[in-house]
Amino acid sequence: MSDDVTPMMAQYLEIKGQHPGALLFYRMGDFYEMFFQDAVLASEALDIALTKRGTHQGAPIQMCGVPVHSAEGYLLALIRKGFRVAIAEQMEDPAEAKKRGYKAVVKRDVVRLVTPGTLTEDTLLEARRANYLCAFAEVREEGALAWADISTGEFRVMTCPGARLGAELARLGPREVLVSEAREATWREVVEEAGAQVTALGRGSFDSSGSEARVARLYGVAGLASFGAFTRAEVSAMGALVDYLELTQRGKLPLLRAPVREASGGTVQMDGATRRNLELTQALSGGREGSLLSVIDRTVTSAGARLLEARLGSPSRDVAVVRERLGRVAWVIEGDRHGLRDALRMVPDMDRALSRLALERGGPRDLAAVRAGLVGAARVAALVAGGPLFDEALLGHEELVGLLEAALVAEPPLLARDGGFVAEGFHAELDQTRRLRDEGRGVVGEMQAEFVAETGIGSLKIKHNNVLGYFIETTTTHEATMRGNPRFIHRQTTANQVRFSTVELSELETRILNAGNLALEIEKGIFERLRAAVLERAAQVAAAARALAEIDLAAGLAELAVSEDWVAPQIEESRAFVVEGGRHPVVEAALRRQGVAFVPNDCGLTQAGVPAIWLITGPNMGGKSTFLRQNALIALLAQMGSYVPARRAVIGVVGQIFSRVGAADDLARGRSTFMVEMVETAAILNQADESALVILDEIGRGTATWDGLSIAWAVLENLQAVNRCRALFATHYHELTALAGKLQGVRNATLAVREWEGEVVFLHEVKEGAADRSYGVQVARLAGLPMAVVERAKVVLEALEKGDRERPSKALIDDLPLFRAVAEAPKPVAKESQVEKRLKEVSADELSPREALALIYELKGLA
Ligand code: ADP
Repeated sequence: MSDDVTPMMAQYLEIKGQHPGALLFYRMGDFYEMFFQDAVLASEALDIALTKRGTHQGAPIQMCGVPVHSAEGYLLALIRKGFRVAIAEQMEDPAEAKKRGYKAVVKRDVVRLVTPGTLTEDTLLEARRANYLCAFAEVREEGALAWADISTGEFRVMTCPGARLGAELARLGPREVLVSEAREATWREVVEEAGAQVTALGRGSFDSSGSEARVARLYGVAGLASFGAFTRAEVSAMGALVDYLELTQRGKLPLLRAPVREASGGTVQMDGATRRNLELTQALSGGREGSLLSVIDRTVTSAGARLLEARLGSPSRDVAVVRERLGRVAWVIEGDRHGLRDALRMVPDMDRALSRLALERGGPRDLAAVRAGLVGAARVAALVAGGPLFDEALLGHEELVGLLEAALVAEPPLLARDGGFVAEGFHAELDQTRRLRDEGRGVVGEMQAEFVAETGIGSLKIKHNNVLGYFIETTTTHEATMRGNPRFIHRQTTANQVRFSTVELSELETRILNAGNLALEIEKGIFERLRAAVLERAAQVAAAARALAEIDLAAGLAELAVSEDWVAPQIEESRAFVVEGGRHPVVEAALRRQGVAFVPNDCGLTQAGVPAIWLITGPNMGGKSTFLRQNALIALLAQMGSYVPARRAVIGVVGQIFSRVGAADDLARGRSTFMVEMVETAAILNQADESALVILDEIGRGTATWDGLSIAWAVLENLQAVNRCRALFATHYHELTALAGKLQGVRNATLAVREWEGEVVFLHEVKEGAADRSYGVQVARLAGLPMAVVERAKVVLEALEKGDRERPSKALIDDLPLFRAVAEAPKPVAKESQVEKRLKEVSADELSPREALALIYELKGLA
């Protein structure tokens, strides 16, 4: 085989050279092929066969491929595994290439770079989650974060100092974050911690003067002034984002809405650790199951679900905004909630349909989605008329709806290229052409009958094959009759048959063949027309979609409030925090599945208008963590505009929420747990202001007793005197309870337990006062520790409680049964080696079954 680079391989290498960081899907007929290292990586990642084809520089070329029709599934798998994929399509009909010469290669070009942050296909996206691409830019000392979801057209930007980047990424949960090459090393860890992929771009992408022009070009405006005032860093971040979209979408620009500048300070501040701890969108065990979101999501549309997740991530700290949102929920509760939700259920994901149509990746179903969505919008508008949820944007779409209703069949196919989506009666020529195509057979039948009548040959048939096309066939006995009629043109004679054609038959054949193609052409034209009509009103359609998402969100929260018996919180501009009969929604749901009732608890974190701190002691498993978290969740739910799981709640607006759990393992980052705990605690003490709600669970647990106690002690004092915030502080250091009498605002609370016949029963009731003891030994017993260990622990505990904790009495140590056991145990004898020795002596092949059995008994004796 020759080692010359074939023209095709030369083309492949050229394209591949332009996309070094991506796997290249190289279109060849019905397959996307991959070569060389790409093939090795992809075959491994996708578990598909790796083959070889030809040679390159002496070595065989490795190759694998995926069929075009099922490529999306493979793409998804690759993206999930962190690859990016460049898709090179054939840009001309292979027949065109042939015309240029026998060896000419079909023109190919990369039409799209598929990356985690730039997906638009339904199969690649999670319907109920946003798919954000972020760009973080720094100009001098200033930082900014821009983010967009090209599948919905959302585009936002905010000023964001580097120190806040982690918290913002934790809120947004992006798939991919763009940073400048020079700063990649600095930000990689922060980005990856948020679960996103880092993509480094050259300095040019972030250049702020070029950026402004790039963003302006996207919207066809002269400058960005019409969208508001942006800082240079913000412009730079937006510019990098747009640059990357141009690069990945290869010039087909997504339909991004005008950028919205998000002011920081409007929403409750929470860092990544707090969000994780409170399990807002993901349970600590990973996955959605068990998260707050999974329990509160009653939305019926994907857009509503995405909005809910966004709200949960950024509760408002503006009393007026929160009250307005709560008012909408109340309105739905009072009205026909079921009717409204039923109407919303009919509304498809218009945002994503629009985005695909704009990127020329849409199909007839996307047009149908817009049609159904706008019809739904009008229906919903009627249901919310006169209420706080009404939005003008829901109405005024009759013309577009009329066009789509007339043009589309009820359930169109996915792809435009297959045709069959235009309704009958919309386009006269199309109807006629289709009739010709479909009725072709019937017309042929009629023609056959005509020929039979004319010739009197009853057995005359019109047939079709790939060589002749349509032809008339008779047996050879009728050859003379046929040849005698000038109308019939002889085509072929076989052993028993003679075949003829006529001018009309050939014409009919051409018409039937062409009709199919023509019908497709006409349909494609109509598709383009409809697409243009939808895009022309893209802004209005998107506005309707947004209004519907808001309504779905309010309706979902109303449904939640009614079905779970939640109450409207009272939000005010103060430091109040009163919760009566509060519950933890996730724990409650889990207990309900086991048929256990949740015990509601009160919490009051204000004394005479001054923020207070509750110090909570009690046995493990008593319910401390649950109580802590439920109060944070109630504040958060209230401020996102939801009813709350309580009998009554008065919340003075919370500006920051901090939640920390002691000794959370963080092996992934390779830091000691104690170090992590202290770094996180430091962050709270440095940042928490009077508006903060702080939740500390067993801080100081990660180190030796006295160290831990001292740290917990000092932290508590700082929270009370310096941060002056509302806080819940769970600890197993009983020594701390002494502070309650000394520090103003610090109160003791404990989880009630009852002892019954030596066993402990958790009542899960929070009451005033300190726990008298920790019941650790009883809990250990419940956990199934061997009885002997439990009994021994009791003895040790008693002895310790009498004496000095740090230096247990000598008597106790001397008395340790564990050590005694070791001392008294016979010296370990090399019994195994005796067995081994005996085994070495026997020759297995010479043993009879009976001898083998005897040997086993003998070995057992030795062991
Ligand atoms: P701690 O933090 O004190 O160790 P947790 O808060 O983890 O205890 O609670 C332990 C378990 O007790 C929970 O998983 C839950 O099953 C149950 N529990 C906690 N609080 C309540 C409550 N208020 N009502 C009913 N069961 C509860």
